[in-house]
Amino acid sequence: MNPNIMISKKVSEMEESATIRMAQKSRDLASKGVSVISLSLGEPDFDTPNFIKEAAYDALKHGNTKYTPVPGLMELRKAICQKFLTENNLHFSPSQIVVSNGAKQSIFNICMATINPGDEVILLAPYWVSYIEIVKFAGGVPIVIKSDISTNFKTNADELRSFLTEKTKLLIFSSPCNPTGSVYGIDELNEIAEVLKEFPNVLVVSDEIYEYINFSSSHVSFGAIEGMDDRTATINGFSKGYAMTGWRLGYMGGPQWLADACNKVQGQVTSGAASFSQEAAIHALKNGKEEAEKMCVAFKQRRDLLLSKLHEIPGLKLNRPEGAFYIFMDVSSYFGKSDGKQVINNADDFAEAMLTEAHVGMVSGGAFGDDQCVRLSYAASDEQLKMAAQRIKEALSKFH
Ligand code: PMP
Ligand code: GLU
Repeated sequence: MNPNIMISKKVSEMEESATIRMAQKSRDLASKGVSVISLSLGEPDFDTPNFIKEAAYDALKHGNTKYTPVPGLMELRKAICQKFLTENNLHFSPSQIVVSNGAKQSIFNICMATINPGDEVILLAPYWVSYIEIVKFAGGVPIVIKSDISTNFKTNADELRSFLTEKTKLLIFSSPCNPTGSVYGIDELNEIAEVLKEFPNVLVVSDEIYEYINFSSSHVSFGAIEGMDDRTATINGFSKGYAMTGWRLGYMGGPQWLADACNKVQGQVTSGAASFSQEAAIHALKNGKEEAEKMCVAFKQRRDLLLSKLHEIPGLKLNRPEGAFYIFMDVSSYFGKSDGKQVINNADDFAEAMLTEAHVGMVSGGAFGDDQCVRLSYAASDEQLKMAAQRIKEALSKFH
């Protein structure tokens, strides 16, 4: 068979996830015996807290191994409603919650449920890699609003206004942000909400999966802003805050019509998420705050450590991310430089050179809509972070 004929246009046009690709490249190099420090994948290095694992064992022992309702176990959806109410001032009934196989699927569900061919979807760049591909897959037209390090990678309300049109269907963004670690404050969100009031048919997809990894302010949910509750889909999950990436569990809270539509999509694609993951997640929500806070403190210390080391390297432009576990640094001062073996012409080359010369894995900013920068994940040990910075420094000292 000829794969060129067999593979759909949609899939052949789809980019592979750059985060996953770079992580695999680091693993491939490591499997050849090279000591690679992979700062490419956005995944907490902590193990899932023990009491959460115990809850999953118990669920399995009690025979909770069957299909679950498509939008999730009622007890979990009730616990999510409680979490939304007490922590986020968001008022949902369980029927407005759809539990999924990860926040990634929640975003996919929403895009499939709302986008018609040609609908415009605004993405605030730098954006998380998968937004753009999911939007295109659903037939939407991504409209990218760029920002750079001079504004801490944030878009303001006036810029947003100039990109909104009659065709805009969705606005998708994350705060705390992957890849920049930027956090939108209450005033910035209020201004964005004011602009959106002029465009009543735009649904906001507020990706809050890094909610618990916020170093400077208390988290603000976009849907809690006056007038935004019935037009915001709030995305969250267990991967980051509770170190549960492999459990594949995320969720969405939103208007009833959207929850119903997402339920329909998910019911035809994957059905309900794993039974024992959901049982464990109920315990995570009820008793996991302390563990999540401990991990957040550790991430903040690591941010400070890695930043202090990176500041010693000439030419890197750095800001001070306020959340998530990424440093998104502008490396454009190295463009055009060579170590005699290779020339760094762009962020892709930079990431590639750091992998081959410094044996440090990172992700080029191109995949996040910013080709001046690279993303480093500091979900790694202090030793690894120090060594990674040292290796980067040595490798870069050879580029002139
Ligand atoms: N949104 C953002 C901003 C992310 O960084 C991730 C990382 N995986 C996801 C969504 C998806 O998370 P999940 O593991 O729950 O699918
Ligand atoms: N969200 C993580 C990242 O940005 C995990 C990888 C992925 O799901 O794409 O690295």
